[in-house]
Amino acid sequence: MLFMSDSPYQPASDLLKDKVILVTGAGDGIGRVAAKTFTDHGATVLLLGKTVSKLEALYDEILPKSRKEPGIIPMDLATTTVAIIEELVVVLQQRYGRLDGLLHNAAILGDRVPVEHYDIEQWQTVMQANYHAPFLLTRLLMPLLRAAPKASLLFTSSGVGAIPRAYWGAYAASKYALEGFAKLLADEIDTTSNIRVNIINPGATRTSMRAAAYPGEDPVSVKMPEELMPLYLYLMGDDSSADHAFTFNSDHSKQPFNQA
Ligand code: NAP
Repeated sequence: MLFMSDSPYQPASDLLKDKVILVTGAGDGIGRVAAKTFTDHGATVLLLGKTVSKLEALYDEILPKSRKEPGIIPMDLATTTVAIIEELVVVLQQRYGRLDGLLHNAAILGDRVPVEHYDIEQWQTVMQANYHAPFLLTRLLMPLLRAAPKASLLFTSSGVGAIPRAYWGAYAASKYALEGFAKLLADEIDTTSNIRVNIINPGATRTSMRAAAYPGEDPVSVKMPEELMPLYLYLMGDDSSADHAFTFNSDHSKQPFNQA
């Protein structure tokens, strides 16, 4: 099923005007390009990530194009706590009063070894960053999403999140758990709610995570994050406001959660 008609999606240049969108893992890869693209389409973007220098470089790049000043949220999702996120929520409440979009994008790949040999501490770190932290952020940011007229809550998964495969370790388990959480939440949220919940599977994309997962692959054979942006824009903008409880793929196909 195509998410739109056969013709390519043409987002309005001000599609995200007046929207406040938080992107996790904004400093690099797909998240970096998404944050830039959302800014170009009018959003005020909140850049959450681990490496502050990457967030600062992106901030400098997007500031001239931003209608309102972007925000930087330094946070290590592998070690963050309820107290840290509660503090963030207070600041966002005071400064913006709502959140129109939350893109859960940050993730750690971890080792690709058999479970029998998987480092236990690393397993817990990957689960914390890829699954527990998105749960905490979602749980605590829900009042701000509720305060938006139409809010898009978007979880990033992976082919091995839908169907875990051998040797993908905690990465596959964490994405599988994340999909479960997204589906549970979507089922709780009525389709008439202001919040829509969807999953995106970006597929093979030219980033440092992809290079780490497939070191022998020619990076040129893999699509650039920019090619995904029409889909990310569609999902963050109001054109997708009727889409709730779907997994979207990079080929623009979508499956309802209750059929997956
Ligand atoms: P990437 O290039 O490795 O970028 C990941 C981003 O997440 C970086 O900005 C990184 O920040 C941030 N991050 C990692 N650990 C973090 C932590 N503990 N706390 C806060 N931020 C953290 O990855 P990507 O390829 O763009 O992947 C983006 C999403 O798409 C991920 O959810 C991934 O699972 C999914 N995905 C990617 C592909 C692909 O082929 N690329 C395929 C399927 C799914 P630092 O740079 O500061 O570490």
